[in-house]
Amino acid sequence: MALVSRLKTLKQTANLKKLDNAQFNIQQMGRPFAACSSVGLHSVNDCEIIPSSRALGESSTRFMHKNGARTGGSEFDRLPVWLPMRGKGPQGNNLNFARFHSSQCAPAVPRERVECVVVGAGVVGLAVARELASAGREVWVIEGASDIGTGTSSRNSEVIHAGLHYPQGSLKAKLCVEGKDSMYAYCQENGVPYKRVGKLIVATQSQQVPLLEKMQTAGEANGVHDLRLLEATDIRSMEPELQCVKALWSPSSGILDTHTFMSTLQADAEEHGASFAFNTSMLRGAVTKRNIELHVGSTEALTPSSGKGVDAILCANYVVNATGLYAQSFARKLDGLPVDSIPASHFARGCYFSLSGVKSPFSHLIYPIPEDGGLGCHVTLDLGGQVRFGPDVEWLPELMNGVSLSTQFDYSVDPKRADRFYSEIRKYYPSLADGALQPSYSGIRPKLSGPGQPSADFLIQGEEDHGVRGLVNLYGIESPGLTSCLAIAKVVHSMLMNHEC
Ligand SMILES: Cc1cc2nc3c(=O)[nH]c(=O)nc-3n(C[C@H](O)[C@H](O)[C@H](O)COP(=O)(O)OP(=O)(O)OC[C@H]3O[C@@H](n4cnc5c(N)ncnc54)[C@H](O)[C@@H]3O)c2cc1C
Repeated sequence: MALVSRLKTLKQTANLKKLDNAQFNIQQMGRPFAACSSVGLHSVNDCEIIPSSRALGESSTRFMHKNGARTGGSEFDRLPVWLPMRGKGPQGNNLNFARFHSSQCAPAVPRERVECVVVGAGVVGLAVARELASAGREVWVIEGASDIGTGTSSRNSEVIHAGLHYPQGSLKAKLCVEGKDSMYAYCQENGVPYKRVGKLIVATQSQQVPLLEKMQTAGEANGVHDLRLLEATDIRSMEPELQCVKALWSPSSGILDTHTFMSTLQADAEEHGASFAFNTSMLRGAVTKRNIELHVGSTEALTPSSGKGVDAILCANYVVNATGLYAQSFARKLDGLPVDSIPASHFARGCYFSLSGVKSPFSHLIYPIPEDGGLGCHVTLDLGGQVRFGPDVEWLPELMNGVSLSTQFDYSVDPKRADRFYSEIRKYYPSLADGALQPSYSGIRPKLSGPGQPSADFLIQGEEDHGVRGLVNLYGIESPGLTSCLAIAKVVHSMLMNHEC
């Protein structure tokens, strides 16, 4: 049964007598709210907050348990509920009580103990869920959208990268090389369509040749040992339409059917007992002494005017933040996570154009020399042989830093961007005809470095980095995140399981 419907059933049968265990807290997380384990969530404005002296005078001991929570009774539903509150009240004093009248009391928000929660069902969250579930862990996956992989995971080039573009010793280099091998093996074992088509990185001018040589050396240092520099004559027989002076040949680069890959990961995780809740978002959370509490509800609840609220509180031993573009936003909502551990975020859109009315001129992936922020406007092929060009790099304004899942990114492709595509592509494909490019789709890179800065590495933060037991945050999982996902999942698993909660 889906998480939310299961929790709704629990909610209907919730027994308000559980108030004995109530914990009450007032917290500043965007909008102040009062949280109580048994009476639900209330805006502070919705309940009366009064100092302890008045509360104790007004309420009889009949209604107040010694720890401040009211005990049950036949008049239970008609009488106000009193709860002790930590934090400063309106008079600045520390001990206050919140009085909820029964008409204001939302039905109990169910609390559920869960071993592992993975937030985000993109390719990385799916790989992590599969890894943890196959190791025998209880795993719940919370996904804000209605299906798996609707974010960046379905807006990319679908290329299995070899691992030559990244600095030696970086996580990108290590996890890409490991991830590539794991991905080919996984696709082979599970019938996921893929093709090792190989990639040519081209120098279109002789002064670019030293860059290819540098890339070959860097690739070898990363463990990519099959790279070869090819002369123009060799290249012509492989790709007659391609114009270049030299190229670096990477035979282990390939393409895959990302959607089949993701559904296979989901099925695999489910077979090992993982549960998925769609249209369900982490709204806020808190680090407690015992575990991490995630307040989850329908994704609509992210829009304050929706009137929707928290459906359940998941008390998890382990939480993996695999929310892609929203990773920093997720982290900022987690009360108790040191704010200075959260990196700045930058976003760069990449648009694709498809080739229309022309039979595919290429049978390999063709990449120019990388540019600032991306790998250059390259040729990608899908498994049906269709050609796409892209992605380009368009830095989004800094104000996008404050995104939340309800933020609508603009994925439209401006046809005017084609002008630059024509000029870039014609450097290596001069016979590209006017009018052959059609706007296709776009994706947005979750970046940790801004324009002109050296490209940042993946940032995988565990307890050692942020001090929160059982939490892994995945930041800046841009390319080669797809290629690396199975290797990232292994790292997350070992970071979490290095200590048992
Ligand atoms: C233009 C482009 C081209 C690329 N090309 C390649 C390539 O060829 N090869 C390669 O290896 N990599 C490539 N990448 C990188 C790759 O696509 C990403 O690294 C990968 O898809 C990231 O997956 P993810 O699961 O981290 O994020 P996503 O796919 O974005 O998934 C995150 C999920 O979290 C959910 N979510 C967010 N917030 C919440 C919340 N509060 N509660 C619940 N759910 C939430 C979202 O709905 C989303 O489904 C490319 C990226 C881009 C942008």
